[in-house]
Amino acid sequence: SGGVPLLETAGLTAFYGDAQALFGIDVVLGEGERVAVIGANGAGKSSFMKAVCGLVRVPAAQVRLRGEPIGGLPPGAIVRRGIAMVPEGRRLFPSLSVEENLRMGACANRVGPWHLERLYALFPVLKEKRRQPGTALSGGQQQMVAIGRALMSNPAVLLCDELSLGLAPVVIKEIYDALPAICAEGMAVVLVEQDVALAQRVADRLYCFQEGRVTLSGPAQALDRAQISQAYFGV
Ligand code: ATP
Repeated sequence: SGGVPLLETAGLTAFYGDAQALFGIDVVLGEGERVAVIGANGAGKSSFMKAVCGLVRVPAAQVRLRGEPIGGLPPGAIVRRGIAMVPEGRRLFPSLSVEENLRMGACANRVGPWHLERLYALFPVLKEKRRQPGTALSGGQQQMVAIGRALMSNPAVLLCDELSLGLAPVVIKEIYDALPAICAEGMAVVLVEQDVALAQRVADRLYCFQEGRVTLSGPAQALDRAQISQAYFGV
């Protein structure tokens, strides 16, 4: 309200020891908006996501949720405030069943539209396999579990790190086709995506990162290929 964005990073910097990965990233995300972050390997996309969800410590004021500084809070505190992450590589709990993995997401104790039955309606295969170990599922099904686990925390912001990584095109399509249903309740989404054309199709706006800086941002459809390659590779 009052023009304060849902999520904002302001001059976001991130370090691994002495090595700086982010050099002042400014990103804004509105209620219900879908934003994609693109960029080459090592551009800082994962570091950005980890900084927002508390896996990389950053100064408090550099990440704000509805104007409140949340940078550097522990990951659990950030989930309880309404930011959930679908991590790169899915990272399911290997000793837990599909349903137990999903229930882990509900630990945030947030109220909202998402619960087990609704997830099973979104991804029916997860209901069939609910008693199997998460790691026994195919890559695409594991990705559905990772998405479902994040949704179970009823986030205001969903962060997705490379949903399409290592998945067959038909599976990628199935997962991205679920996005409108996922967003129907007004949740906002930040997607890291290597596939630029896919990012342009699903996102409202794009940010292109290069070497820890934003080199281009704007409405997804309005940016053309030449601009994007310039921002992506710096050629
Ligand atoms: P990718 O697509 O390969 O995941 P990315 O755009 O997500 O790339 P990051 O993984 O954020 O990029 O990496 C940004 C920079 O930070 C790189 O120079 C990388 O080497 C460095 N980096 C990332 N993780 C660590 C770490 N745990 N320790 C030290 N340096 C790291």
